[in-house]
Formats: sequence, C-alpha cells, structure tokens
Amino acid sequence: MKILIVEDERRLARILKQGLEENSFFADLAFDGEEGLYMAETFPYDAIILDVRLPLMDGFAVLEKLRANGVMTPIVMLTARAEVVDKVRGLNAGADDYLPKPFDFSELLARLKSALRRGKGNPSPIISIEDLLIDTNGHVVTRAGVNIKLSATEYALLLYLAMNKGRVVSRAELLDHIYDSDSDRDSNVIDVYVNYLRNKIDKGFSAQLIHTVRGSGYMLKKGASGDV
Ligand code: CA
Repeated sequence: MKILIVEDERRLARILKQGLEENSFFADLAFDGEEGLYMAETFPYDAIILDVRLPLMDGFAVLEKLRANGVMTPIVMLTARAEVVDKVRGLNAGADDYLPKPFDFSELLARLKSALRRGKGNPSPIISIEDLLIDTNGHVVTRAGVNIKLSATEYALLLYLAMNKGRVVSRAELLDHIYDSDSDRDSNVIDVYVNYLRNKIDKGFSAQLIHTVRGSGYMLKKGASGDV
C-alpha cells in the first residue's frame, strides 16, 4: 500500500513517512499543495494524508480539485485548526476522514487503515481468502490456523494482493504500490517475492491461493490450481 503525504512541516512529514514504513506501508512526500495535487493525479496511491494549511494551494482546494477530476483515492485530512467548520468543509468536499493536530501516530494509522479498507469495500480489519486470514491491525497472517511469519516486503505484497483479491494485479502495479518512488525497481524482484510468498502461503496445501495469470500478473483468490 503506497501513501502520499502532503504536509509542509517537513519534520512531521518525515516522521509520518518513517512511521508508515515501519508498518509495512510505503510513502512519498509532497511539501506544498500544487506538488501534492500533481503527484496525486499522476501516480497511483492507495491513500493520501493531506494537511489543510499548505503553501501554494490549501488542502481543501487540493481535495476539491482531485474529486472534481475523478480521483477517488481515500483521503485523511490533517489540520491544526479543530474548528467544526473545517471538518464539515472537508467531509463535504469528499475527505474520508479528518484528524485534528496534534494527534497520536497510532490514531492516524488506525484512521488510515480504516479509510483504505472502506476504499476497497472491505470494512473488516480481517481479510480472509478460504483458510488464509490476514489481520491488518496486528499484521498477523495465518493459514488453517497456523501462524505464518512474513518479511516486511512479503507482507506488503500479500496485503496488496489481498486488498485487491479476485482481481489480476500486474507486476508494474505491484511495483508502484509496494515500493516508494525513490527505490530502484525491477519487476523481476516481484516474481522473486511472489515465489517466497507462495512457499509460505500455498506450499503443502491442495488449494492454491496465489495464481499466476500468464502475461498479466498475479491474483489472490480461491481455487485449486496454481496457474490460470
Ligand atoms: Ca501545514
């Protein structure tokens, strides 16, 4: 899951980015409203953390332009001003949630995860595919009741596939969503991590959940065959 953070307080922006990365997210930063609008319209983000008070264009204007242009990415707005009028304006303009500063990082994380789940039409924090359960709050993965230990990248890959279960996800899309834009990226690395993940999730089970869709990418879904 890749998040865009639009926040002109650079120190706070970097703390948020680091905190998200410690929780298996990836994050890009924009430091003013125009840059944030450009990035949100240009790159595929799973959610946006959008400050209200920004140079060049404020957060409400960014939000309104994005929604007017059909960008429906979940947005959690931040503001130093806790006035009710701001909240109402943000929610009316299509923000998914609203968090007054100062806030605890854990609170932001909870709101962000909730906005992401609602955006994918999957309000429960637990995603299940047959006997595979992913607890997105605790980052706990089990299959047939057995705990599966995953690396941060494996978890990020599984989470993205699970949030899009039943849909083919291309290697390019996976690269876009499980790495930040500064990383060196090579689509072969996706195949390597999918293999690691298969060994942990599917090996030894008759029902294979990670499907290779030839020429297209990967899909997480119920089914007996490894390939479709
Ligand atoms: Ca600000």
